[in-house]
Amino acid sequence: MKLSVIIPAYNEEDNIPELVKKIEDVLSDYEKEIILVDDGSEDNSFEIASMFGIKVIRHPYNIGNGAAVKAGIRAAVTDTIVLLDADLQHPPEEILSLIKEAELYDMVIGSRTGCFFRSRGIANWFFNTLASYVTGREILDLTSGFRVIKTEVCKKFLYLLPNRFSYPATLTLAFLKSGRSVKFVPVKTNKRVKGKSKIHPFKDGIKFMLIIAKIATIYSPFKVFLPISVFFFLTGLVYY
Ligand code: UDP
Ligand code: MG
Repeated sequence: MKLSVIIPAYNEEDNIPELVKKIEDVLSDYEKEIILVDDGSEDNSFEIASMFGIKVIRHPYNIGNGAAVKAGIRAAVTDTIVLLDADLQHPPEEILSLIKEAELYDMVIGSRTGCFFRSRGIANWFFNTLASYVTGREILDLTSGFRVIKTEVCKKFLYLLPNRFSYPATLTLAFLKSGRSVKFVPVKTNKRVKGKSKIHPFKDGIKFMLIIAKIATIYSPFKVFLPISVFFFLTGLVYY
């Protein structure tokens, strides 16, 4: 198995050196290419990444982490893609537990086993449940960006992926709805230490709903439209 490790990075100069070294270490037995996509960083992410002898793609301005991942996937030349964030939230050691399953599955997702009783925990639970209903399979972590994917299959779905939010959710739903095999592997994840997250819980929550509706209506429109029309029919009937 040859690997293309793809890292979207926006203003991650503090994290890049440690991340690249760890990946090189953990995957020393594998033939691989590391592709870091600098998504228009205003700091020195590009210069720092370029010092490591890895492939660096540079966006002239900030386009979004989805766009960065798409650029990396387009550039990948091996048969297996590893996606992970630049902020060290996805521990490179865990790549090995994902790779173990990658022979058999089209996509392996490193799922977080975080605390339910935090704002994002409850939101994630809600979206996982909704997505499980839409796909008919239990989804443990819809939005994890930590994955190993067969390149050939992944490239087929590039056109569906949004530039900003949220390529992981879109990939998970599109894979499941089109009959590809997906495996969730629990992994430990870290809190972001340096820099800050660019996710906005409310705005992005609405975008999640739209993504779930979008993919569901492509593959099984009745799962969305039927309950809604039944609801309106019944309210009409009651009113009548
Ligand atoms: N990122 C990017 N472009 C952006 C925003 C983020 O390439 O416009 C990268 C970021 O550097 C990180 C990954 O995408 O490697 C995930 O971003 P973030 O940590 O902000 O998201 P969260 O982990 O909070 O979901
Ligand atoms: Mg992060």
